[in-house]
Amino acid sequence: MEVFLAQPRGFCAGVVRAIEIVERALEKYGPPVYVRHEIVHNKHVVESLKKKGAIFVEDLSEVPPKSVTVFSAHGVARSVEEEAEARDLPVLNATCPLVTKVHNQGKRYIAKGRTLILIGHAGHPEVEGTMGQVPGPVFLVQSVEDVAELILPAGTPVAYITQTTLSVDDTKDIITALQAKFTDIQGPDIRDICYATQNRQSAVRDLSKLVDVILVVGAANSSNSNRLREIGTEVGVASYLIADGSELNPDWLKDAKAVGITAGASAPEVLVDDVIEALRRIGPVTVSVLPGREENIEFRLPAELTAG
Ligand code: SF4
Repeated sequence: MEVFLAQPRGFCAGVVRAIEIVERALEKYGPPVYVRHEIVHNKHVVESLKKKGAIFVEDLSEVPPKSVTVFSAHGVARSVEEEAEARDLPVLNATCPLVTKVHNQGKRYIAKGRTLILIGHAGHPEVEGTMGQVPGPVFLVQSVEDVAELILPAGTPVAYITQTTLSVDDTKDIITALQAKFTDIQGPDIRDICYATQNRQSAVRDLSKLVDVILVVGAANSSNSNRLREIGTEVGVASYLIADGSELNPDWLKDAKAVGITAGASAPEVLVDDVIEALRRIGPVTVSVLPGREENIEFRLPAELTAG
């Protein structure tokens, strides 16, 4: 069986930075280090950090006084930051700089007196963080239908921002609907969207032209991994989201000559290797990596972890 690996796939710069913040905090301050929410949505990553002494909590009330606390890559609401300040917790913020950029865009639009619309998935931690960062009401829209239901006074100046794990393709219909509905509307430059989301989605589209089945390595609660699987399905290739090789179902591959593998931005490469190993247990495979866009983006770590 031929196996093609999408390029790029897996870890993005925001995920690399978030994991490194926890690892360096453990080295510098010693365990335990508390992390609010899964640092990135991947059980393998979380378990390996737990082994090194990270303790994951959903609520800051679970963090003992004075304990080093890391905010996850998804970002947090201002109320969470305030709670940490009130409790005097030493915080390392692993929010991806691209998520922070979206927060800042939202704040700027509100400061200009615009009503803010966020395109994203209800309940996702990034969306909760963004809604809780901007000082004003935010209307969340998830679909073109949601846009139709938005009732705002005629002529209201509006602006939109988007969840980072949505690509240009994901949001274009919603943005078109917003532009048709509101005459005074502003939005960020299209080039501002997360490079990693766009690149991984473009790569899975390229992959889909060559394969009969697509395996997306990623966690069930990973928004960008789910989106990769959906894209595969939308373009007509049977696509499955699997956490690792143990979830591979040989029935999926019965009629497949070529299998494509990609991985969500929070899925480490060892899990891709694990899936390839699982394929090898079914039969001989040849693996090729597709040409793709090269990524060389790196985000700086917080100063307290790089000094000395
Ligand atoms: S997917 Fe994009 S926004 Fe999300 S952590 Fe990675 S680089 Fe940052």
